[in-house]
Amino acid sequence: MSQRYFIETFGCQMNVNDSEKVAGLLRREGYAEAVRAEDADVVFVNTCAVREKAAEKLYHSVGRLRRLKKERKALRVAVGGCVAQLQGKEILERAPGVDVVIGTHNLTALPELLERSRQEGGGPVLELDRKANAFAVEARDVVHSNPVRAFVTVMEGCNHVCSFCVVPRTRGPEVNRTPEEIEAEVRHVVEEGFCEVMLLGQTVNAYRYGGIGFADLLERVHGIGGLRRLRFTTSHPEHVDEGLARAFRDLPKLGGYLHLPVQSGAPRVLADMRRGYTPDEYLDKVRLLRDRRPDLALSTDVIVGYPGETEDEFEHTLRLVEKVGFESIFSFMYSPRPGTTAFRHEDDVPEDTKRRRLHALQRMQQRYQEDRNRARIGQVERVLIDTVDSPGRVSGRTMHFRLVHLDGPADWVGTEQDVEITSAGPNAFRGRLRA
Ligand code: SF4
Repeated sequence: MSQRYFIETFGCQMNVNDSEKVAGLLRREGYAEAVRAEDADVVFVNTCAVREKAAEKLYHSVGRLRRLKKERKALRVAVGGCVAQLQGKEILERAPGVDVVIGTHNLTALPELLERSRQEGGGPVLELDRKANAFAVEARDVVHSNPVRAFVTVMEGCNHVCSFCVVPRTRGPEVNRTPEEIEAEVRHVVEEGFCEVMLLGQTVNAYRYGGIGFADLLERVHGIGGLRRLRFTTSHPEHVDEGLARAFRDLPKLGGYLHLPVQSGAPRVLADMRRGYTPDEYLDKVRLLRDRRPDLALSTDVIVGYPGETEDEFEHTLRLVEKVGFESIFSFMYSPRPGTTAFRHEDDVPEDTKRRRLHALQRMQQRYQEDRNRARIGQVERVLIDTVDSPGRVSGRTMHFRLVHLDGPADWVGTEQDVEITSAGPNAFRGRLRA
């Protein structure tokens, strides 16, 4: 019987895409997928360093695997992702059950490193070469986890220096793929049957290769026959420009949805975070986008309790959130990350204050989402079905990336259906096929 792998993924879509690449590399080596870690010969833990909790999950996970290793000596545990890049050796010291630690640019080396760890009698192996080609995995080797939507990475790394973020240290500066490579990969996934593509990058809209900017890239990809929907994430407000706003107006396959992290509504906090814009400048970008595409749905990230954040500054955040009317918000309490500039500040907002602010923000947003979503009952939406929820029940996304559940057969996956919205919660809708 062939060897089996199991992958545990934490963090963002970039990490999900990296895990899809690892799955493909292991399959090429003859591995099959295991449903649980308990049945696997290799477990790959793909880590996230954005928040302290996310990093701690690695050690919980590896502790569990170490116990499993006592029963199954041949089991190999590999750790990748941002925590691996950041903590490298420390992981091997803190987590003795780990056999391979692999950096964010070294995925293609994984099969060989696993082999080396076996040959050397289980000695741990470390590979963190940031000069390696982060895009070396071939498109045909990626195992996409969604049956309809394929991720295509267009750039890696980040040139920004946000005070709270470890990404520039873990992923390095921006590296852009050539438009030809990106187009070829999109064509490949469309030929494989995927009808939606999500272009990925830490600051995807900063993409530039030679004279080709992000809006040009969108236009080129949009023209590919067979592609029905085009999305991208994550965008930085600083790189929202007229070209991008026009793309939302002119490219019908581009869904009417944009994730645009604001982080705070207070000028002093944004300046300290080194986000590169003021609240007013953020609002100007929103106005520009909505001027060209009035129905654009926006989501955002917000951090509450950043060092020194006063009640008044938090109020500024609430007011900005209210003003924009976000489709949804990913909100977090600030947690200091070693290696960031904010780590040098005192984490001086008490935990209970952070929690209270987080709940206040979430309550306000929840009420807004409930009211706004209720107003959509009776509307008809074109839904691309991408999931079987349970026998006889499926779900999918509207052009604005809204989640809709409905009764329907499994073979609807990959089809678009006109669905009348019959009920609404804060985060999802229920609907029925339009009569
Ligand atoms: S833009 Fe800021 S928050 Fe986003 S990845 Fe770069 S440094 Fe991190």
